[in-house]
This record gives sequence, C-alpha cells and structure tokens, in this order.
Amino acid sequence: MPRESFTCPRCGAAEADPVLATQRFCGICQDFTGRCGASLIAGALLATGVLEIPGWPYPCTSTGTERWLLARVAAAETGIGLCAPHGDRLRAGAASWMNALGLTLNPAGWS
Ligand SMILES: [Zn+2]
Ligand SMILES: [Zn+2]
Repeated sequence: MPRESFTCPRCGAAEADPVLATQRFCGICQDFTGRCGASLIAGALLATGVLEIPGWPYPCTSTGTERWLLARVAAAETGIGLCAPHGDRLRAGAASWMNALGLTLNPAGWS
C-alpha cells in the first residue's frame, strides 16, 4: 500500500505523521486543511452579507485535491484545498460571481 502523503495547502509543509496525513490533518496548522474548503469559502461569502449561496453545496467532506488561493478584502491570502467537483464549480463560473463579492479565487499549484 502506498504511503499516504499530504502537503498542507495552507502552510505548504508535508505532514510527516502518516496517521495525520491519512486524515488530511496538518500538525502545523492544527486543522484539517486537506479537506475540501467549500465551507471556508461559504463562510467568507456569508461574511460579505449574502444570505444564501446558490450552486455551492457545503459542507463538503471530500478530500481537497486541488489547491486554490482565496484572497479577501483586508485579509491575508489563504491556501485551501478543494475537491474536484468544487474546483469545477469555480471554473464553471462560481469564481466570477464570488469575485463580484470581493473574494478572489485563483488556482495554484502545490509548491
Ligand atoms: Zn499547514
Ligand atoms: Zn468539495
């Protein structure tokens, strides 16, 4: 069985503990940063004052396999992982209406 590897999308560190890596948990961030960040984006959108987010199901328990950078007005850029279906939603147009609300989402490579 291949050893599970996990690189945290937020801090960029590779998790050394195989058990934590399997859980997509980053020991440095002390968070499940490897899970799909759909809820994190939803929270950022709700903070802008929108009441509902059509076309953006959350929470999502999938593994985050794509790395995106979320930038908010007056907040530091945050690296998040998203599952492929949520990444597809962003590419299909969700990113542009989120952009209109002040959230910038850009795909980024794992570094
Ligand atoms: Zn981390
Ligand atoms: Zn997802």
